[in-house]
Amino acid sequence: MALTWQLENWGKSVQTSPAVYVLAQAVEEVQKIAADEAAFPGPVRASGAALSVTACHSNDGGTTIGMQKLNRIIGLCYMEGPAAAGSGGKLLQSSESTTTTATTTTTMEGSAAAGAGANLRSIECVEAQAGVTLAQLQSFLDEHGLELAFCAEIGSATLGGVCFATTKDSSIGPACPSGGLGDFQSGLMSIAVVDELGNLQEHRLFGTDGQQDASFQTLLDSQGTQGIAVSMRIAVRPYTPMITTLHVLGSLTAPDLVKELQALHADAASTQGNIFAVIDLTQGLTIVEHRTPSDAGKMPARVSLSRLIRKHWLSQKKRSFQRSYMTTAVKLELELLRQVRGSSAVLRYASARRGDVFEYPQDVPTSEHRLVYSYYSFDLDAFQEVVQEGLEWVSEYKSKTGFSPSGFAVYFVTTSGQRVGGPYASRGPRTKFSFDPLYHDPCDDKWALFVQMFSASACAKGGRPALNQTVGIEKYPEWGASDVSGTPKARFCSEWMRAFFDAKDQDTNQTPATHTPASRDTADTTDALDNQDAADTIDRL
Ligand SMILES: Cc1cc2nc3c(=O)[nH]c(=O)nc-3n(C[C@H](O)[C@H](O)[C@H](O)COP(=O)(O)OP(=O)(O)OC[C@H]3O[C@@H](n4cnc5c(N)ncnc54)[C@H](O)[C@@H]3O)c2cc1C
Repeated sequence: MALTWQLENWGKSVQTSPAVYVLAQAVEEVQKIAADEAAFPGPVRASGAALSVTACHSNDGGTTIGMQKLNRIIGLCYMEGPAAAGSGGKLLQSSESTTTTATTTTTMEGSAAAGAGANLRSIECVEAQAGVTLAQLQSFLDEHGLELAFCAEIGSATLGGVCFATTKDSSIGPACPSGGLGDFQSGLMSIAVVDELGNLQEHRLFGTDGQQDASFQTLLDSQGTQGIAVSMRIAVRPYTPMITTLHVLGSLTAPDLVKELQALHADAASTQGNIFAVIDLTQGLTIVEHRTPSDAGKMPARVSLSRLIRKHWLSQKKRSFQRSYMTTAVKLELELLRQVRGSSAVLRYASARRGDVFEYPQDVPTSEHRLVYSYYSFDLDAFQEVVQEGLEWVSEYKSKTGFSPSGFAVYFVTTSGQRVGGPYASRGPRTKFSFDPLYHDPCDDKWALFVQMFSASACAKGGRPALNQTVGIEKYPEWGASDVSGTPKARFCSEWMRAFFDAKDQDTNQTPATHTPASRDTADTTDALDNQDAADTIDRL
């Protein structure tokens, strides 16, 4: 009897049975697998930490490569980019030279690198293999006083699992060299990919002329259908000292809550800061992390107290996050602080850098609460309509069905205006926000039904999904088609992925990212019509 493998995602809501599973130990092994169709039946897909809440890992009958052992951090290096692009990197001084140590390699590339020509600059990067997790990478960068601009709550995700997929983080500070800020891909400078012949191809964000390479943008939304990523270089920057002010907003009407969130976001954004909010529907509280960069010299004097507060809050946050559940004790503590303070700003702490990444246990039994959520991204202009009506919609849904999600997470991301697919494709730089319902049981049918209905509503309001983060997206291939780009290679395209590429080919009108840029008004009208089409499609299902 043929051996079959049973793999499942972290939430245990999605299972798949590849014919072959290989935990790769070396890049050469990945190359061999990609090229050998007889021994390794296609499609060939990679699996990172399998955290994704959707079935994007589905690969029944194919070959799945586990990437976790390809976890070498190669070191620091410099790559060239245009002098004007973002500022997520450090200018190389002419006196700095190439250095090599046992653990770290700093190299210069390109003939003009040492002089960093008039319109080019050298951007500091970290190079690491695809199985490295975000938390491992940050630990390495800590040794050098560096950070990624992207710092999601999730630290267990692998670089390979986020380089062709959607991510979100309420990041702070200047934009990355790509012009974007708030998703992992914004910091990517190059990716090394194994193709169907087993060859290693390097793809770079910037060409030698300093211009962004269009094919790199296409690769970003390929969802792994161009090959297996084995390593990449990501722009880094010196630590950004940060002040976090924790706001607790009590029971407010939906319109008042929206106004408070808008005001806090505008305030933070005015100093390159950002906010991250969790609207907790079970406890009737909204918690907002208001994050602003701060000069190291202006850090609060009582840093040790600040450390204590930070440590305490982060441990509460991690517990609540992993379980998607705020305990009554935490609620009481926050309520008490609010009353003592007499204002919504209950706690303030300083940190030397952005970066509170969490590593969750790998195997959480189904009997325990596990965070699940579904992702929807919108233009900031739609904030009031989406959040206010979304909360009212959920309240009505609860009165009809008795079911409610535990809450919503709200993130703000800046787009570069260069992306050709996915939720961050936009004409010119824009601020987008995601409004993600949260729940504590990924396997609950009531959650699945809720998400199906909520997706229809989000789609009608212009929401964009993500193939790795919008639960049940396979039910809506036309909608999900906006999240793919390029022509998939059969060797790397699973049946699950194929449906989105097929839907894109069949009706390009339903792929907002492929529209020819027109005036803002006509373009937005076209997008709205597309979204209405997709919503109608969902309604018909
Ligand atoms: C509890 C929890 C909290 C989360 N918090 C956040 C958050 O704060 N912010 C955020 O943005 N996301 C968050 N996520 C989502 C998560 O970051 C994404 O789903 C991410 O894609 C998972 O990374 P992974 O390594 O587990 O990838 P996987 O889920 O294993 O894979 C994702 C996709 O990438 C493909 N892939 C993986 N490796 C490679 C490779 N080397 N080459 C080519 N393709 C590859 C896979 O085939 C799959 O299609 C959270 C998820 C959970 C469960």
